[in-house]
Amino acid sequence: MKPEADLINKVISLCKRRGFVFQSSEIYGGLKSCYDFGPLGVELKRNIAQAWWRDMVQSRSNIYGIDAGILMHPKVWKASGHLDNFSDPLVDCFNCRERFRADKAPRFAPGTLVTAQIRTKNNKSEEKTIPVGECGYVCPHCNSTNLSPERLFHGMFRTAIGSLDPLNELMENYSEGMNKDSFREFLTSHIEKSAIYLRPETAQAMFVQFLNVQQTMAAKVPFGIAQQGKSFRNEIVVEHFIFRSCEFEQMEMEFFCEPGSQLEWLEYWKQERLRWHQQFANHKDHYRFREHARDELAHYSDRCFDIEYLYPWGWDELEGIASRTDFDLKQHSQASGSKLTYFDPHKVNPETGKAGWRYTPYVVEPAAGLTRTFLCYLLDAYKEEASVDAEGGSKQRTVLKLHPTLAPIKAAIFPLVKKDGQPEMAEKIAAELRQTGLAVVYDDNQSIGKRYAKHDEVGTPYALTIDSESLRDQQVTIRDRDTTQQRRVPIAEALGVVQQLHS
Ligand code: ATP
Repeated sequence: MKPEADLINKVISLCKRRGFVFQSSEIYGGLKSCYDFGPLGVELKRNIAQAWWRDMVQSRSNIYGIDAGILMHPKVWKASGHLDNFSDPLVDCFNCRERFRADKAPRFAPGTLVTAQIRTKNNKSEEKTIPVGECGYVCPHCNSTNLSPERLFHGMFRTAIGSLDPLNELMENYSEGMNKDSFREFLTSHIEKSAIYLRPETAQAMFVQFLNVQQTMAAKVPFGIAQQGKSFRNEIVVEHFIFRSCEFEQMEMEFFCEPGSQLEWLEYWKQERLRWHQQFANHKDHYRFREHARDELAHYSDRCFDIEYLYPWGWDELEGIASRTDFDLKQHSQASGSKLTYFDPHKVNPETGKAGWRYTPYVVEPAAGLTRTFLCYLLDAYKEEASVDAEGGSKQRTVLKLHPTLAPIKAAIFPLVKKDGQPEMAEKIAAELRQTGLAVVYDDNQSIGKRYAKHDEVGTPYALTIDSESLRDQQVTIRDRDTTQQRRVPIAEALGVVQQLHS
């Protein structure tokens, strides 16, 4: 079943209310499309990242992790094609004055009639039926066909490195009387001299460090290099909260394999990645594959799939899994002069028929967004359901049914009242659990009902309550987030239930 359209607003509101995600620089009015992860958000994000790292790196013998810098030599981006091609086609709508990406706009055959909200002279809007133009798309905001031509907008953030201020150098070399064109050329040549870029993806470091990793780890093909980290894209359209932002985090792996074996590995990684996403989800049917059509494929790719998620606005990308052939290693070999190849002494060279084969490995790349995965799990976990209050009356509760592995807090420990030794006993139990490495909190704010409600909303799987009897009989009440069922059990048993979350 498709999630309700309003779900995204409910999740955004919960994120702010409960300390998952805040608008960046909020006290200054906020910075568009930039977000800060709050105390619970950072735990959830780390838990997702850790689950990926464990599954992709630590549980496999042939995948090696790295953590490369965000700034890289500008030649990396020239060789990878990003400097010349990392642009999106930008279009302005003259009707509603919004900007959009032509490649993401709704497509129609030229001449198809569409209904649009057209602005009139007195700034009102009126519904009109109009034909789609030659470009084959309309404005995604108002359906208008009154659009600017497409122009390419570069997606990388540029900055400068070095102790010299590029502006000083410009001032020194500036000569009056330059016309517009020569002035632009003058500016570009000076700025580009010291320009470096914030990485728009984490992948390139794994190609550039291919030889270092292969040699230091004596890695044998097939093997992979993985990393997680920040990426930056000057997106034209930032949308749907953290779904598309200018600063985000990725979890990528480059899997180097023998030429000819890439499509088998592509199938393997497709299944592995789908399994990974679904294992923590309540709605497994909200995930699917979408194969890229031939005309959508990058020129170097021989096949590519997206794992799509059913967001409140419909199916959209969550992760890309691409077979990238030997393009990246060849490009960097050519541009750097380093031989990014692999020698297998046990294989026969298919061209010469002789023992020993040196080749450029092919690459399969599962590329996931960490911040986008974070959003998917929140959307997947958010639930409003009927419940009963302390007096047995019916009420509505909001609960985040997060998988316990991902939950920011594994258990909340409550004293029923703030006296009679109950807080001390609750603190002691919390400390004991903390020592085993579990993220637990002690909470004595507000009524017990409100504490349950708060921890349901942040997805805490268990609540342990100490009452006046607990000191005497060493028993506590353990409440299950999903069923809301409460059981009075010996402390050791309650600790055991929570500690099972370690596995
Ligand atoms: P899209 O089509 O949504 O722009 P993409 O195909 O450009 O994404 P990739 O370059 O394949 O994305 O990046 C891999 C993953 O990184 C994406 O599947 C997504 O999860 C994440 N990602 C890419 N761009 C952004 C962004 N601006 N904000 C958040 N996550 C992003």
